[in-house]
Amino acid sequence: MTKIIHEREKCIGCGACVSVCPEHWEMKDDGKAFLKDSKQVGEKFEKEIEAIGCNKEAAESCPVNIIHIEE
Ligand code: SF4
Repeated sequence: MTKIIHEREKCIGCGACVSVCPEHWEMKDDGKAFLKDSKQVGEKFEKEIEAIGCNKEAAESCPVNIIHIEE
C-alpha cells in the first residue's frame, strides 16, 4: 500500500495537482485542493491506495511541496 499525504492548510490553490491527476484530486469551494476519499489526521489529509498512479505527478507538480508519498 502507498500512503498519500496532503498538508492541506498550506495549499495555495494553484490547481496543478488537479490538472495532472483529476482522478485523485479536486478543487473545493474554499479554493484549496482536496485529495479524494482522504481522511483528516491531525492537520493533514491522508489516504492509502494500492497503486500510486498519477499522484506521483501531482506531488512533482506541487509548487509548495505539500503532497507527500510514503511507499
Ligand atoms: S499543486 Fe499543491 S498548492 Fe497547488 S492546488 Fe495542488 S496541493 Fe495545492
